Amino acid sequence: MVLGNYKQCVSARATDRSILARAQDGGIVTQLFAFALDEGIIDGAIVAGQGEQPWQPEPIVATTKQELFAAQGTRYNICPNMALLKEATRSYGLDKVGVVGTPCQMQAVRKAQLYPVGMRYVGDKIALAVGIFCMENFPYQGFEAMTEDFCNVKLESAAKMDIGKGKYSVYTERGAVSQMPLKHTLKFVQPGCHVCLDYVANLADVSTGSVGSPDGWSTVFVRTKNGDDIWAKAMAAGCFETKPIEEVKPGLELVTKLATDKITKNQKHVDERATFGVRADGSGKALRSYL
Ligand code: SF4
Repeated sequence: MVLGNYKQCVSARATDRSILARAQDGGIVTQLFAFALDEGIIDGAIVAGQGEQPWQPEPIVATTKQELFAAQGTRYNICPNMALLKEATRSYGLDKVGVVGTPCQMQAVRKAQLYPVGMRYVGDKIALAVGIFCMENFPYQGFEAMTEDFCNVKLESAAKMDIGKGKYSVYTERGAVSQMPLKHTLKFVQPGCHVCLDYVANLADVSTGSVGSPDGWSTVFVRTKNGDDIWAKAMAAGCFETKPIEEVKPGLELVTKLATDKITKNQKHVDERATFGVRADGSGKALRSYL
Protein backbone atom coordinates (compact mmCIF):
# COMPACT_ATOMS: atom_id res chain seq x y z
CA MET A 1 0.00 0.00 0.00
CA VAL A 2 2.99 2.36 -0.09
CA LEU A 3 1.82 3.40 -3.56
CA GLY A 4 -1.77 4.08 -2.46
CA ASN A 5 -4.90 3.01 -4.31
CA TYR A 6 -4.87 3.30 -8.05
CA LYS A 7 -6.88 2.06 -10.99
CA GLN A 8 -4.02 1.95 -13.43
CA CYS A 9 -0.37 2.86 -13.69
CA VAL A 10 1.43 3.60 -16.94
CA SER A 11 4.54 5.22 -18.26
CA ALA A 12 3.46 8.16 -20.40
CA ARG A 13 4.49 11.27 -22.25
CA ALA A 14 2.61 14.08 -23.95
CA THR A 15 2.09 13.82 -27.69
CA ASP A 16 2.22 17.60 -28.12
CA ARG A 17 5.88 18.09 -29.06
CA SER A 18 5.93 21.75 -27.98
CA ILE A 19 4.76 20.74 -24.48
CA LEU A 20 7.29 17.92 -24.42
CA ALA A 21 10.12 20.19 -25.49
CA ARG A 22 9.65 22.42 -22.44
CA ALA A 23 8.68 19.64 -20.03
CA GLN A 24 10.64 18.47 -17.01
CA ASP A 25 9.84 14.87 -17.96
CA GLY A 26 6.80 13.64 -19.86
CA GLY A 27 4.77 16.88 -19.77
CA ILE A 28 1.85 15.11 -18.09
CA VAL A 29 0.54 17.95 -15.89
CA THR A 30 0.58 20.60 -18.61
CA GLN A 31 -0.92 18.31 -21.26
CA LEU A 32 -3.66 17.07 -18.93
CA PHE A 33 -4.63 20.57 -17.79
CA ALA A 34 -4.47 21.91 -21.37
CA PHE A 35 -6.83 19.13 -22.49
CA ALA A 36 -9.13 19.72 -19.50
CA LEU A 37 -9.24 23.44 -20.32
CA ASP A 38 -10.04 22.75 -23.98
CA GLU A 39 -12.83 20.35 -23.03
CA GLY A 40 -14.34 22.59 -20.35
CA ILE A 41 -13.55 19.99 -17.65
CA ILE A 42 -11.82 22.82 -15.77
CA ASP A 43 -12.04 26.53 -16.35
CA GLY A 44 -8.68 27.27 -14.79
CA ALA A 45 -5.83 25.61 -12.93
CA ILE A 46 -3.67 26.57 -9.99
CA VAL A 47 -0.09 25.97 -11.05
CA ALA A 48 3.38 27.18 -10.08
CA GLY A 49 4.16 30.33 -12.03
CA GLN A 50 7.32 32.42 -11.92
CA GLY A 51 7.83 34.45 -8.74
CA GLU A 52 9.90 37.58 -8.18
CA GLN A 53 13.25 35.82 -7.71
CA PRO A 54 14.84 33.53 -10.31
CA TRP A 55 13.44 30.00 -10.03
CA GLN A 56 11.12 31.07 -7.25
CA PRO A 57 7.66 29.63 -7.85
CA GLU A 58 4.54 31.61 -7.18
CA PRO A 59 1.06 30.13 -7.46
CA ILE A 60 -1.02 31.48 -10.30
CA VAL A 61 -4.47 30.72 -11.64
CA ALA A 62 -3.95 29.83 -15.29
CA THR A 63 -7.08 30.26 -17.34
CA THR A 64 -5.44 29.98 -20.78
CA LYS A 65 -3.10 27.46 -22.34
CA GLN A 66 -0.49 30.22 -22.79
CA GLU A 67 -0.44 30.76 -19.03
CA LEU A 68 -0.16 27.02 -18.48
CA PHE A 69 2.73 26.72 -20.91
CA ALA A 70 4.54 29.66 -19.31
CA ALA A 71 4.45 27.83 -15.97
CA GLN A 72 5.98 24.59 -17.27
CA GLY A 73 8.94 22.91 -15.58
CA THR A 74 9.85 22.05 -12.01
CA ARG A 75 11.22 24.52 -9.48
CA TYR A 76 12.55 22.64 -6.50
CA ASN A 77 11.26 24.89 -3.76
CA ILE A 78 8.00 25.52 -1.98
CA CYS A 79 5.03 26.88 -3.92
CA PRO A 80 1.96 27.50 -1.73
CA ASN A 81 -0.64 26.53 -4.33
CA MET A 82 -3.31 25.93 -1.69
CA ALA A 83 -3.25 29.64 -0.84
CA LEU A 84 -5.08 30.30 -4.11
CA LEU A 85 -7.73 27.61 -3.80
CA LYS A 86 -10.43 29.81 -2.30
CA GLU A 87 -9.28 32.80 -4.34
CA ALA A 88 -9.69 30.78 -7.54
CA THR A 89 -13.38 30.21 -6.80
CA ARG A 90 -14.08 33.71 -5.48
CA SER A 91 -11.97 36.41 -7.17
CA TYR A 92 -11.46 34.41 -10.37
CA GLY A 93 -14.99 33.02 -10.21
CA LEU A 94 -13.98 29.53 -11.34
CA ASP A 95 -16.58 26.78 -11.03
CA LYS A 96 -14.25 23.96 -12.08
CA VAL A 97 -10.78 24.27 -10.64
CA GLY A 98 -7.72 22.23 -11.56
CA VAL A 99 -4.93 22.15 -9.02
CA VAL A 100 -1.47 20.60 -9.04
CA GLY A 101 0.56 20.03 -5.93
CA THR A 102 2.77 17.91 -3.76
CA PRO A 103 1.32 14.97 -1.79
CA CYS A 104 0.83 17.18 1.29
CA GLN A 105 -1.04 19.69 -0.84
CA MET A 106 -3.29 16.91 -2.16
CA GLN A 107 -4.04 16.08 1.49
CA ALA A 108 -4.96 19.75 2.00
CA VAL A 109 -7.28 19.63 -1.03
CA ARG A 110 -9.13 16.61 0.36
CA LYS A 111 -9.24 18.12 3.82
CA ALA A 112 -10.80 21.28 2.38
CA GLN A 113 -13.44 19.05 0.74
CA LEU A 114 -14.14 16.97 3.85
CA TYR A 115 -13.85 19.64 6.57
CA PRO A 116 -14.48 22.93 4.78
CA VAL A 117 -13.59 25.21 7.66
CA GLY A 118 -13.03 28.58 6.00
CA MET A 119 -13.49 26.83 2.65
CA ARG A 120 -17.25 26.87 2.14
CA TYR A 121 -18.37 26.37 -1.48
CA VAL A 122 -14.80 25.53 -2.53
CA GLY A 123 -14.60 21.73 -2.27
CA ASP A 124 -17.27 20.95 -4.84
CA LYS A 125 -15.51 23.20 -7.35
CA ILE A 126 -12.32 21.15 -7.39
CA ALA A 127 -12.59 19.35 -10.70
CA LEU A 128 -9.14 17.83 -11.14
CA ALA A 129 -6.37 17.40 -8.54
CA VAL A 130 -3.01 16.34 -9.95
CA GLY A 131 -0.28 15.28 -7.52
CA ILE A 132 3.44 15.16 -8.11
CA PHE A 133 5.85 12.71 -6.48
CA CYS A 134 7.81 14.35 -3.68
CA MET A 135 10.59 13.04 -1.48
CA GLU A 136 11.22 16.38 0.25
CA ASN A 137 11.11 20.09 -0.50
CA PHE A 138 13.21 23.16 0.20
CA PRO A 139 12.61 26.74 1.28
CA TYR A 140 13.84 29.25 -1.32
CA GLN A 141 16.92 30.24 0.68
CA GLY A 142 17.98 26.59 1.04
CA PHE A 143 17.42 25.96 -2.67
CA GLU A 144 19.46 29.07 -3.47
CA ALA A 145 22.32 27.85 -1.25
CA MET A 146 22.26 24.39 -2.84
CA THR A 147 22.41 25.86 -6.34
CA GLU A 148 24.77 28.78 -5.85
CA ASP A 149 27.04 27.70 -2.97
CA PHE A 150 27.24 23.96 -3.53
CA CYS A 151 26.75 23.65 -7.28
CA ASN A 152 28.41 26.99 -7.99
CA VAL A 153 25.76 28.09 -10.50
CA LYS A 154 24.03 31.45 -10.24
CA LEU A 155 20.28 30.93 -10.28
CA GLU A 156 19.98 33.45 -13.12
CA SER A 157 22.12 31.29 -15.40
CA ALA A 158 20.49 27.94 -14.56
CA ALA A 159 18.45 26.42 -17.37
CA LYS A 160 17.03 23.39 -15.54
CA MET A 161 17.29 21.54 -12.26
CA ASP A 162 16.75 17.88 -11.66
CA ILE A 163 16.73 15.44 -8.75
CA GLY A 164 17.50 11.84 -9.54
CA LYS A 165 20.00 9.01 -9.21
CA GLY A 166 21.05 10.29 -5.78
CA LYS A 167 22.04 13.73 -7.03
CA TYR A 168 20.76 17.30 -7.29
CA SER A 169 21.76 18.48 -10.76
CA VAL A 170 21.82 21.98 -12.18
CA TYR A 171 22.08 22.48 -15.94
CA THR A 172 23.36 25.84 -17.16
CA GLU A 173 22.30 27.73 -20.25
CA ARG A 174 25.71 26.92 -21.75
CA GLY A 175 25.09 23.19 -21.38
CA ALA A 176 27.29 22.49 -18.33
CA VAL A 177 26.01 20.24 -15.53
CA SER A 178 26.87 20.75 -11.89
CA GLN A 179 25.83 18.24 -9.23
CA MET A 180 25.79 17.65 -5.50
CA PRO A 181 25.00 14.40 -3.66
CA LEU A 182 21.43 14.38 -2.36
CA LYS A 183 22.60 13.50 1.14
CA HIS A 184 24.16 16.98 1.36
CA THR A 185 20.80 18.62 0.62
CA LEU A 186 19.26 17.12 3.78
CA LYS A 187 20.04 20.07 6.02
CA PHE A 188 18.07 22.36 3.69
CA VAL A 189 14.88 20.29 3.75
CA GLN A 190 11.88 22.08 5.26
CA PRO A 191 11.15 20.60 8.72
CA GLY A 192 7.61 19.40 7.94
CA CYS A 193 8.96 17.05 5.28
CA HIS A 194 10.64 14.94 7.95
CA VAL A 195 7.27 13.60 9.12
CA CYS A 196 5.71 13.19 5.68
CA LEU A 197 4.72 9.65 4.77
CA ASP A 198 3.41 10.11 1.24
CA TYR A 199 5.73 9.98 -1.75
CA VAL A 200 3.31 9.41 -4.62
CA ALA A 201 0.37 11.71 -3.83
CA ASN A 202 -2.03 8.99 -2.75
CA LEU A 203 -4.99 11.36 -2.59
CA ALA A 204 -4.72 12.95 -6.02
CA ASP A 205 -7.03 12.13 -8.92
CA VAL A 206 -3.93 11.50 -11.01
CA SER A 207 -0.37 11.52 -9.70
CA THR A 208 2.84 11.62 -11.64
CA GLY A 209 6.62 11.86 -11.44
CA SER A 210 9.72 10.89 -13.34
CA VAL A 211 10.74 8.01 -11.08
CA GLY A 212 10.07 4.58 -12.54
CA SER A 213 10.05 5.69 -16.17
CA PRO A 214 12.82 6.21 -18.73
CA ASP A 215 14.17 9.73 -19.39
CA GLY A 216 11.60 11.95 -21.08
CA TRP A 217 8.70 9.85 -19.79
CA SER A 218 6.70 9.99 -16.56
CA THR A 219 5.10 7.41 -14.35
CA VAL A 220 1.36 8.08 -14.01
CA PHE A 221 -1.02 6.69 -11.39
CA VAL A 222 -4.68 7.13 -12.24
CA ARG A 223 -6.33 6.93 -8.84
CA THR A 224 -9.92 8.10 -8.58
CA LYS A 225 -13.00 7.58 -10.73
CA ASN A 226 -12.84 11.25 -11.66
CA GLY A 227 -9.17 10.88 -12.63
CA ASP A 228 -9.94 7.73 -14.60
CA ASP A 229 -12.76 9.41 -16.57
CA ILE A 230 -10.59 12.41 -17.47
CA TRP A 231 -7.56 10.24 -18.30
CA ALA A 232 -9.69 8.02 -20.56
CA LYS A 233 -10.98 11.08 -22.45
CA ALA A 234 -7.46 12.48 -22.78
CA MET A 235 -6.23 9.13 -24.09
CA ALA A 236 -9.12 8.93 -26.57
CA ALA A 237 -8.18 12.42 -27.78
CA GLY A 238 -4.60 11.25 -28.40
CA CYS A 239 -3.01 13.44 -25.72
CA PHE A 240 -0.61 10.80 -24.43
CA GLU A 241 1.62 8.05 -25.67
CA THR A 242 1.77 5.28 -23.04
CA LYS A 243 3.58 2.04 -22.27
CA PRO A 244 2.59 -0.54 -19.67
CA ILE A 245 4.62 0.21 -16.54
CA GLU A 246 5.63 -3.46 -16.39
CA GLU A 247 7.46 -3.04 -19.70
CA VAL A 248 9.67 -0.08 -18.75
CA LYS A 249 12.80 0.17 -16.64
CA PRO A 250 13.27 0.80 -13.76
CA GLY A 251 9.49 0.51 -13.35
CA LEU A 252 7.38 0.25 -10.22
CA GLU A 253 10.12 -1.53 -8.33
CA LEU A 254 12.04 1.72 -7.93
CA VAL A 255 8.92 3.78 -7.12
CA THR A 256 8.03 1.23 -4.43
CA LYS A 257 11.55 1.30 -3.03
CA LEU A 258 11.65 5.11 -2.76
CA ALA A 259 8.13 5.31 -1.29
CA THR A 260 9.09 2.65 1.27
CA ASP A 261 12.38 4.40 2.08
CA LYS A 262 10.55 7.68 2.68
CA ILE A 263 7.97 6.08 4.95
CA THR A 264 10.57 4.09 6.91
CA LYS A 265 12.85 7.10 7.38
CA ASN A 266 10.12 9.55 8.31
CA GLN A 267 8.13 7.15 10.50
CA LYS A 268 11.14 7.25 12.82
CA HIS A 269 10.70 11.03 13.16
CA VAL A 270 6.97 10.60 13.75
CA ASP A 271 7.67 8.04 16.50
CA GLU A 272 10.37 10.24 17.99
CA ARG A 273 7.98 13.18 18.20
CA ALA A 274 5.40 11.00 19.92
CA THR A 275 7.87 10.50 22.76
CA PHE A 276 7.62 14.18 23.59
CA GLY A 277 3.90 14.49 23.05
CA VAL A 278 3.49 15.39 19.39
CA ARG A 279 1.61 13.06 17.10
CA ALA A 280 1.56 13.41 13.34
CA ASP A 281 -2.17 12.62 13.34
CA GLY A 282 -2.79 15.68 15.54
CA SER A 283 -4.73 13.72 18.14
CA GLY A 284 -2.39 14.65 20.98
CA LYS A 285 -2.97 11.13 22.30
CA ALA A 286 0.63 10.75 23.47
CA LEU A 287 0.43 14.10 25.24
CA ARG A 288 -2.78 13.16 26.97
CA SER A 289 -1.16 10.01 28.27
CA TYR A 290 1.17 12.25 30.27
CA LEU A 291 -1.71 14.12 31.94
S1 SF4 B 1 7.94 15.87 1.47
FE1 SF4 B 1 5.82 15.81 2.07
S2 SF4 B 1 5.55 17.62 3.36
FE2 SF4 B 1 7.43 17.91 2.16
S3 SF4 B 1 6.74 19.04 0.37
FE3 SF4 B 1 6.80 16.87 -0.15
S4 SF4 B 1 4.72 16.17 0.21
FE4 SF4 B 1 4.95 18.11 1.27
